[in-house]
Amino acid sequence: MTGFVGVNDAARWVATTGVEAIVPGMVEYLEHDFRRWEQFDKMPRVASHTPLGCMELMPTADTELYGFKYVNGHPSNPARGFNTVVAFGMLADVSNGYPIFMSEMTLLTAIRTSSTSAMAAKALARKDSRVHGMVGAGSQSEFQALAMRAVLGLNEIVVYDIDPDAIAKFVRNLRPLGFEITVAADAAEAAAAGDVVTTCTADKRRNVILRDGDVRPGTHVNTIGGDTPGKTELDPALLDRGPVFVEFPPQTRVEGEIQAKPADFPVTELWKVIDGRVPGRTSDDQITIFDSVGFAIEDFAALRYLRDATLGTPYVTDIDLVAEPDDPKDLFGLLGALSPVG
Ligand code: NAD
Repeated sequence: MTGFVGVNDAARWVATTGVEAIVPGMVEYLEHDFRRWEQFDKMPRVASHTPLGCMELMPTADTELYGFKYVNGHPSNPARGFNTVVAFGMLADVSNGYPIFMSEMTLLTAIRTSSTSAMAAKALARKDSRVHGMVGAGSQSEFQALAMRAVLGLNEIVVYDIDPDAIAKFVRNLRPLGFEITVAADAAEAAAAGDVVTTCTADKRRNVILRDGDVRPGTHVNTIGGDTPGKTELDPALLDRGPVFVEFPPQTRVEGEIQAKPADFPVTELWKVIDGRVPGRTSDDQITIFDSVGFAIEDFAALRYLRDATLGTPYVTDIDLVAEPDDPKDLFGLLGALSPVG
C-alpha cells in the first residue's frame, strides 16, 4: 500500500500544526538535503510550455528514495477561477521502485517554497534584519511572510501588489496573526523598506518588478516569481550589484533571473553556502540575491518531512496504487479475481 495525503488532510495538518511550527522543521530537512547535494541524481525539470502556462515534472533521487513532483504555472488562471500553481508528488523506494508515499503538493509547495526562502535568508540576510518588503500578495505570499517570521523573526511587512483585492486578502489573513503591515504605494516603496525583500508575482513575461535603484545596500532579495523561460522580475542591472545565489545552475540559467545574463554570468550554488564551504554575505552593505526557481531536491525534502510528520496519524491513508498479484508474473490473474474477464 502507498501512504497518501490529500488536500483536505494536508490542509487539516497545516491548520492544526500551524505554518510557523512546520517551517523550522522543514528548513532542517532542506538544510540536511542541501548539505548532501552531491549525493543526489539531479537534472533540470522537464517542462512543457504552452501559450497559457507550463506543466513540469521535477525528479530527483538519492540511494534510498526516488521522488518527483508534477506542477504547473498558469499566470492567467486566477482570472478564470483557477489557481496559478497546483501540484502533487510522490516518493518511491529505490530498492524495488514501488511508490511508498504520495501527496497533494499545492499547499506543500507553498510551504516548501517559503521554507526554502527562509533557509536562503537565514544564510544570506543581515542578522539585524527587521522588515520584510513584499511585492506580490497572491497564493504564495502569506506562506512567505509566515516562514520569514518563523525563521528570522520578521514581524513587520511592507507589501505591494497591483491588485488591491490581493492586498486586502493578504492584510485580512495576516493582521489577525499579529503582523504589523503597511501597504506601499508601489513596488519601489516596498523594496526600499525591506531588509529582506521577496518578489512573488506571476506574469508570463520579462517584467521589471524591481529596478536597479529600488534596493538599498545591505538588502537580501528572494526573487520567487521569475521561474520560467521568458518570465523574470528583476532589472538585469540589479543582478550586477550583488552576489547571486542559485539552486541548480543548469535549470536556473534557463528559468531564473539570470536568463537575462550571458551563460557565464557568475553565480554561487546555495548548497555550498548551506554546507559552509563558501561564504554567503561578506559585508553588511552587500546586496545578496537568491534567484529562486524551485528545484526537485526541495520537493524531495518536503515530501520526506510530510511523510515523517504524518506517519501513523489520521492525515495519511493507504491507497492501492500498486498492482501486487500473488504471483509477480501473473498480472493477468488479478483480473480473474474480478471475473468476468473482458
Ligand atoms: P498568484 O497568481 O496567486 O499571485 C501573484 C500575484 O502577483 C497576484 O496577486 C498579482 O496581482 C501580483 N502581480 C502580478 N504582477 C505584478 C506587478 N507587476 N506588481 C505587483 N504585483 C504583481 O501566484 P502565486 O501562486 O502566489 O505565485 C507567485 C509566483 O511565484 C508565480 O510566478 C509562481 O510561478 C512562482 N512560484 C515560484 C516558486 C519557486 O520555487 N521559485 C514556487 C511556487 C511559485
